[in-house]
Amino acid sequence: MAVKILRTHKRIAMVAHDHKKQELINWAVKNKAILARHELIATGTTGRLLEDAMDMPVRQMLSGPLGGDQQMGSMIASGAIDMMIFFWDPMEAQPHDSDVKALLRLGVVWNIPMACCQATADFILTSPFMHGEYEALVPDYSDYLHRPIAEENGVK
Ligand code: PGA
Repeated sequence: MAVKILRTHKRIAMVAHDHKKQELINWAVKNKAILARHELIATGTTGRLLEDAMDMPVRQMLSGPLGGDQQMGSMIASGAIDMMIFFWDPMEAQPHDSDVKALLRLGVVWNIPMACCQATADFILTSPFMHGEYEALVPDYSDYLHRPIAEENGVK
């Protein structure tokens, strides 16, 4: 395992599907005093609504279905996002389901704290790790990177 430091000032990804946007906005406004100490990065529409409601800057990616989820995933993989609040909708199919899965998967691959409902978001936000550094263990993927590729796969 390698160690990755999540600093006191955290880069927080925020995403909400359409029927969950109001829930995320209400939660974020209620917790503005804590969230304002960190940097917020969101998919396009979520970010615009959060910025208006919270009256604080929110960095906005593309809208989720137009590539925003993949931009967020890429930032997780490159270490540019420390944690994620993602209120995805369990009651409605999404056109970009593959992107949603990919984003959730990368959060686990890189072991970032990730809340998909209000209760978990509350637990994360009140964690002592929010106000200080946290040493996150990142699995050692070197075996995977150096895996033997068999000749039957056409690789010499
Ligand atoms: P949106 O994207 O914030 O642009 O609506 C959210 C999502 O990924 O569905």
